[in-house]
Amino acid sequence: MSKIGTAGFVNKSLKHNQLTAKKKYGQNFLIDQNILGRIVDVADISKKDAIIEIGPGLGSLTEVLCERAGYVLAYEIDSDLLEPLKENLIGFLNYKIINQDILKANIKQDIEQYLKGYDHVYVVANLPYYITTPIILGLLSQELNIQRYVMMMQLEVADRICGKPQTKDYNALSLMIQYKATANKVLKVPRTVFVPAPNVDSAVVRLDVYDVPPLKAKDDQVLYEVLRNCFIQRRKTLYNNLIVSYDKSFVDQMLKDLHISPSVRAEALDLADFISISDYITQKR
Ligand code: SAM
Repeated sequence: MSKIGTAGFVNKSLKHNQLTAKKKYGQNFLIDQNILGRIVDVADISKKDAIIEIGPGLGSLTEVLCERAGYVLAYEIDSDLLEPLKENLIGFLNYKIINQDILKANIKQDIEQYLKGYDHVYVVANLPYYITTPIILGLLSQELNIQRYVMMMQLEVADRICGKPQTKDYNALSLMIQYKATANKVLKVPRTVFVPAPNVDSAVVRLDVYDVPPLKAKDDQVLYEVLRNCFIQRRKTLYNNLIVSYDKSFVDQMLKDLHISPSVRAEALDLADFISISDYITQKR
């Protein structure tokens, strides 16, 4: 069994390289072999698949990914981790570490350069929690050739991403993501399996991106704008949220034409309703 994903190893590796985990980069290293194995099982990877990992850290997840996948392309922002990471991955030849902020990377170009010819490209990552939402929305909105995402994140964010209508977790983020992919929370993870332990519990979410989305808005950007505007204040009615951003008489006419009650709350509407609002606005612009 590998030693990389254990508390002793992480502490030793940091100490040996005179490092401490950096809070500003969301560094909480996974130290549970069982959880590492389960994340990779959920991703359902074969040697014909290529993986993008965000934040390999000291390499505990990267090691398992290199064992199971054809190739691993990993983005790590912290240059101090590169040496220990490479040392820990000695023996593997099927990976490439890019020392870059994932939010600034040209992923389309990197997929083209490093991951051509694989059956699938999946993202598998224990995410830096401080940028979970920009990472996921950024990747999904770029229409990249990525079919699946298996990602560890803060439990509350996982609940929101997988939120269903009429529940407290349902919001603009649930809809933005479920517009592009099916979303399932597959594993709840306690804070005790990280070094250092974060202040929150975690969960693993699997997103399977639609080949052909069941519902399509005329303009994705208008849909995202509508979703944000409709959920500005959850307890307000749809009408009262909409008139903050759009002309009152326009909103009156639109809801009448679309047969949507002005007194309903956004959490009662489904994706098809939001798309009809979004398409109405797109057409009138
Ligand atoms: N994968 C490792 C593990 O499971 O033990 C580390 C996960 S740790 C939660 C998040 C990792 O993301 C850290 O290695 C951190 O340095 C890296 N990171 C933080 N911000 C990043 C960014 N903007 N781009 C790329 N990597 C980033």
